[in-house]
Amino acid sequence: MISGKGALYPFPFHPCLSVFICGCFSMSNFQNEFSWSPSRHRMFESCKRQYYFNYYGSWGGWDKDADAQAQLLYRLKKITTVPQLVGSVVHDAISNALNALKLGRDILPFAVETYAQNLFRQHLQESAEHLWRYSASQYTNLFEHYYNEPFTETDQNNSANHISTSLNAFFASNAYATLQSARPEDYLTIEDLTDFTLANTKIWVVLDVAIRRDESVHIFDWKTGRERQADRHQLAVYALYATSQWGVALPDLQLQDIYLQTNTEHSLDLSPDDLDQTRIFVTESVQKMRALLDDPEQNTASQDTFPMTTNTHLCTTCPFKAVCYPDERPAKQPTPEQDPVQLSLF
Ligand code: SF4
Repeated sequence: MISGKGALYPFPFHPCLSVFICGCFSMSNFQNEFSWSPSRHRMFESCKRQYYFNYYGSWGGWDKDADAQAQLLYRLKKITTVPQLVGSVVHDAISNALNALKLGRDILPFAVETYAQNLFRQHLQESAEHLWRYSASQYTNLFEHYYNEPFTETDQNNSANHISTSLNAFFASNAYATLQSARPEDYLTIEDLTDFTLANTKIWVVLDVAIRRDESVHIFDWKTGRERQADRHQLAVYALYATSQWGVALPDLQLQDIYLQTNTEHSLDLSPDDLDQTRIFVTESVQKMRALLDDPEQNTASQDTFPMTTNTHLCTTCPFKAVCYPDERPAKQPTPEQDPVQLSLF
């Protein structure tokens, strides 16, 4: 995930400002409350140790007074890969376009593309300049830079083309045609982080867009990667949210994944039994996660209870590999003396 959704800031967030804010506002007293999300479930199933690092070991690591391991894990947790960056930039550009559309503004596809390409270059630049050292949550830290993975000019051009292809597919999609004819009051959400309760647990969801049309609700989810079975589970969880929060009847709910690289749209038809199965799936996932906690009430956990995966293929692209495999050293970072930007901070 992109650190701090950098695209919220049309211009780079000034390092001095982030230091000022961090100095005034400590988040160290936040409670680490247990919650569930489709992405949390995927991480739990892929590698328990990664899940522990991401949701427990890194907790509080944003605080300069936290212990060194928590600070390191928090920094690594914020790392993103180039394909993830591409996906985030595309989502950001689409949500901006839809927010403008909702306000009745004309959408110019070339302007959306320009915005996305500039944003992509901005994230690449801030990562190349290691600006994440000022604020791991505000600035992008690319896996490819951090671990000195090959990322050539050709790779960069391919990523830029990926953004173009995705946005062209978005504007050519039936979903966009549907959204163009929606009235402002039809919009239920555009990429809002929101939650509902199931199994006594807060369930987080971010629906790319949902609109109400008469009695129906349409939910569209954009995908910049390959099709996965998990995408259908995610839509089914969105269906749980929509039926419980918006009171829409299941037959009136239309769910669609839109794969922007292949320009394909997949609808998901759910029966009441499918919805029950999804409730069971979420409840069982919550139970499995809670079963590994030291104290489920306090939501505390110990690293040793969360084993490293034996599927080491996953480790090759894992941001935490420097901790699990200390020989996987990150790329050499500039020293303060070599880095005039950092010197200007002090
Ligand atoms: S490096 Fe491998 S074992 Fe360690 S957290 Fe990542 S995926 Fe899990």
